[in-house]
Amino acid sequence: MIFVKKNLKNTITGSALPATEVAGFGTVNSMKPRPQSQKIYEQMCQLIPGGVNSPVRSCKRMGQVPLVADHAHGDIVVDVDGYNYIDYCGSWGALIHGHAHPVIVEAVQKRLEKGTSFGITTALEGELAGEVIRLVTSVENIRFVSSGTEATMTAARLARGFTKRELIVKFSGNYHGHADFFLVQAGSGVLEVSPSASSAGIPQEIVKQTVSLPYNAIEACEKLFSHPEDRKRIAAVILEPITGNMGVIPGNTSFIQFLRKQTEAIGALLIFDEVMTGFRVHAKGAQQLYSIRPDLTCFGKIIGGGFPAAALGGRKEIMDCLAPLGPVYQAGTLSGNPVAMEAGLQSLRLLQRPGFYEELQKKTDRLLSAIKEQIKRKNWNACIQEVGSMFTLFFGKREVRNLEEAMEVDHQRFASFFRSMFDQGIYIPPSPHEAWFISAAHQDEHLDQTREAILAFMEENLSTTPP
Ligand code: PLP
Repeated sequence: MIFVKKNLKNTITGSALPATEVAGFGTVNSMKPRPQSQKIYEQMCQLIPGGVNSPVRSCKRMGQVPLVADHAHGDIVVDVDGYNYIDYCGSWGALIHGHAHPVIVEAVQKRLEKGTSFGITTALEGELAGEVIRLVTSVENIRFVSSGTEATMTAARLARGFTKRELIVKFSGNYHGHADFFLVQAGSGVLEVSPSASSAGIPQEIVKQTVSLPYNAIEACEKLFSHPEDRKRIAAVILEPITGNMGVIPGNTSFIQFLRKQTEAIGALLIFDEVMTGFRVHAKGAQQLYSIRPDLTCFGKIIGGGFPAAALGGRKEIMDCLAPLGPVYQAGTLSGNPVAMEAGLQSLRLLQRPGFYEELQKKTDRLLSAIKEQIKRKNWNACIQEVGSMFTLFFGKREVRNLEEAMEVDHQRFASFFRSMFDQGIYIPPSPHEAWFISAAHQDEHLDQTREAILAFMEENLSTTPP
């Protein structure tokens, strides 16, 4: 075991967890004895569906009991059995400053003493709003909510209210939270093919209001945008400009420029879902990297500094349609919660310190450069796709450009990779279709340990083929 701090367990004593039958993966188990984690997880399974409060946390497809966290600091999460893990999940990207950053913790502690929730306006909401508006030029007005799901759901309602149209266009493999009309799988890319919902419980009538097209595919969009009837029904096109939810896939510049132009031409809104990329790939978001001005932008994760806060913002003319000014209703008991606003404000101020993103990039390069080099040199069937400090390591593919290709990755290889990393004290998102995140708290020593562990796994498991 390569990483563990002195006072923590650092030996693998063999297989203490019972072997588990995992669909499609045969019988697997984790090597580390984690009796407390196992006990808590089993109890939770009696109380909470699947033992988790968000399905992606479950390690079921990885063939093991999930990590049960006790506490965390910097780049390390400690589980209830006392094991340390170098964390590349970072609360799914929210923790760009790492766990329990002292500046955020101190500010939040002070704020807690002043009251935790009012359901009444506070000056802090204006401070955070001002900070975002100053940073992200397309955002003239902003409304705070509590989750990314709320932000995208409200953005869609607002787009429909503003344009007085119904249809939402999304892209397969993009995730915009779990509002009914976003849970629609990829169709064939044209309206005639009725898309099917990717969850039970969604009425067909709602599914029909969403079109899901292949990502990065201009041709499929052209068909829809040139259809004389359908083009008039489109309220908004929403996308992750850089996807994280089928693994990291950057949108092609030409694709995104095309969407900007076409939405303008047909009177629909362009919504950037920057819940993951906002403040992650650049202080001004992915829209800065693409030089695109969307009509609306959704934020989450980093904007809450590790607390439940999210937002939607954009052109004032559109935002003014929200209640109480306009007819589009949106509300929230905990919206603009002062503790979350404080954490968000500190989080955004920290990332504007000089050299912040350069430092993050250095850390990312420290981890990834040698791996990318080896993949190329040994012609391993794998690839790393990255934008700034978010990236995905795909097994079984040399490039992934859309959902279809993302689905072809080697799941079984990833599951054994996940378990190998886990057993060595490295925690990565438990799915081959997720982004990993580097934070400002990642220490060089831990990045080096991770790089060596990944290379050793690849060396042992991937076959070198002539280029
Ligand atoms: N949009 C994107 C791009 C996301 O990555 C997520 C969550 O991961 C969401 C929306 C939903 O956010 P939340 O989980 O806060 O509801």
